Order: sequence, then structure tokens, then C-alpha cells
Amino acid sequence: MSIRSANPPRKRLLVQLSQAVETLALRKEPGLVAVPLEGTLDGKVKVQFFEVSNREFTHFENISNALIRLEQGIYGRCMFCGRRIEADVLAKTPWATECLGCGDQKP
Ligand SMILES: [Zn+2]
Repeated sequence: MSIRSANPPRKRLLVQLSQAVETLALRKEPGLVAVPLEGTLDGKVKVQFFEVSNREFTHFENISNALIRLEQGIYGRCMFCGRRIEADVLAKTPWATECLGCGDQKP
């Protein structure tokens, strides 16, 4: 992986999404719920079905919601106070939805 901060958010999110898909493709666990997974990679929409745990499903939701926010032009805004989310927070967690101040106030 080259210079991380030089990657635009969309690129980073797509990388995260494809890595998550690869992880799932390699590991099949029985007894989990199958969910449709949509990913926009290289301009193409793929719909795939994987058996995923709740935690993995939440991870996918986080990433795809972030991609939706990008398209809506509200990516990087705190959903609680509306301010810009700190750059280092987004670098670490590209799908972050809250700034440091609001995140700290959660239980
Ligand atoms: Zn906030």
C-alpha cells in the first residue's frame, strides 16, 4: 500500500470493501445469515451473496453507507454536530460518522 493520505476517500473505501469481500470469499462459516452485498468497484456494480456474521454485516453496512454519503456530498461530516470529522479519524476509519468530540460523549 502506498501513501495512504494521498488516496481520496472513495478509493480508500473501495479498497476496504474489496478487502472485506476477499476475506469473506476465503472463509465460509456455517450457520450464518446470507445477505446481499453490493459493491461498486471500478464503476461496476456487483451483487454477491455471502454468509456473514452480524459484525461483518455491520462492517459492510458502514462502508456502503459511507460510499452513499460520498455520493450525496455529505461524507466526512459528523452526523451529530455537522462539523467536519477530523482527518486522522477518517484516515483510520474511513466510514466514521462522528467527530472526536461527539464520539467521546457516547457511553
Ligand atoms: Zn460531532
